[in-house]
Amino acid sequence: MTDRLYYRDSFLYDFDAEVREVSETPRPAIILDRTAFYPTSGGQVSDAGSITVGSDQFNVTEVADTEDGRVVHYLEAPLKDLQPGTRVRGQIDATRRRDHMQQHSGQHVLSSAFVRLFGMATVSFHMADDYCSIDLDTPTLKKEQIEAAERLANEIILENRPVEVRFVTREEAGTLGLRKPPATDRDELRIIDIRDVDISACGGTHVNQTGQIGCILLRKFEKVRQGWRVEFVAGQRAVATARRDFTTLTESAALFSAHIYDVPQQARKSLDEIRSLRKQSEQSQEELAAAQAAALLAETAEQNGRKLIVRTFADRDLNAIKLLAQKLTRLSSNTVALIATTSPQPALVFAQSAGRPFDMGLLMKDTMAKLGGRGGGSKDMAQGGVSNADNINALLAQIADELRSNS
Ligand SMILES: [Zn+2]
Repeated sequence: MTDRLYYRDSFLYDFDAEVREVSETPRPAIILDRTAFYPTSGGQVSDAGSITVGSDQFNVTEVADTEDGRVVHYLEAPLKDLQPGTRVRGQIDATRRRDHMQQHSGQHVLSSAFVRLFGMATVSFHMADDYCSIDLDTPTLKKEQIEAAERLANEIILENRPVEVRFVTREEAGTLGLRKPPATDRDELRIIDIRDVDISACGGTHVNQTGQIGCILLRKFEKVRQGWRVEFVAGQRAVATARRDFTTLTESAALFSAHIYDVPQQARKSLDEIRSLRKQSEQSQEELAAAQAAALLAETAEQNGRKLIVRTFADRDLNAIKLLAQKLTRLSSNTVALIATTSPQPALVFAQSAGRPFDMGLLMKDTMAKLGGRGGGSKDMAQGGVSNADNINALLAQIADELRSNS
């Protein structure tokens, strides 16, 4: 078993050790007689840092537990001819370790706050790179409860209570009133005791005083299968997160030329305006299409008992030409309309007044086959889209000629 130096001192960032095992496959790894590196476990991710052998320094990329209690350090580069028995020096990335201590100790304090206030037990803890979360065993969780737990957790931090580590037998642990049953079946348990606040069996790295956690900021909370998940950040992470939130909010406020606290109100106002403008625009388009249809019908003479209207626009979308085709064929009982647009996206609409003899769906399918596009529709109304507008006009003229001769 590897002697775990972090069990007794979480603030030990440098240590000497002796190489026990070296392995190069599947990736370079080293096992030492003792280590201050924390391996990924119990929801906490591993330490980073380096191991120095003579004048060579190797970055530690990952640290893991073996089943029989050894700690494996995975290294970035091959170890050459390193032999067991060699003396090495380990250096822990102190910034990362301090961050992990703040998050993990913060979790103990927060979990105990939820128990004390609402009897909600923490069933799991997860530490990601930029936030942490706990899952609470509760059917409901309200915003007021989140705020109350956050307040109590920060009060406990401010009280700067001692955080003590000690080792006890399983039997002794049974008398201490642990917040939750130990996750291990070992005979000796490592106890983290936040004075008069929380006692837990835990192998993680923790601060010495709650004041070192700095602060706790609760963020998102959401329903998950086994209860409610609460996201939080502690210490420097909380400050970095609040800084990012403030920057985002400040940028948003600048867009509205408003104070940051007025952003929701301004955003709501803008959305209302957009909705109202969209409605107005739809109404204007309807009116425009109706007026244009009336004018086109007035200037088009009947041939063989029907009006054939052929038009290509350069600046309308599919919806606009569809609307025009609808108006043309509804305002008149004997009209066939072949309408196209070339921009922004080339498209065609074929329509006829109800009861006319042609099949617009079939005609559109044939046309699309010739233009290399996709489309179709019903007997009276069909639409299609093409990627290239080049041949649209020539083809529309040809279809019009065919329809005229086909009476
Ligand atoms: Zn812990």
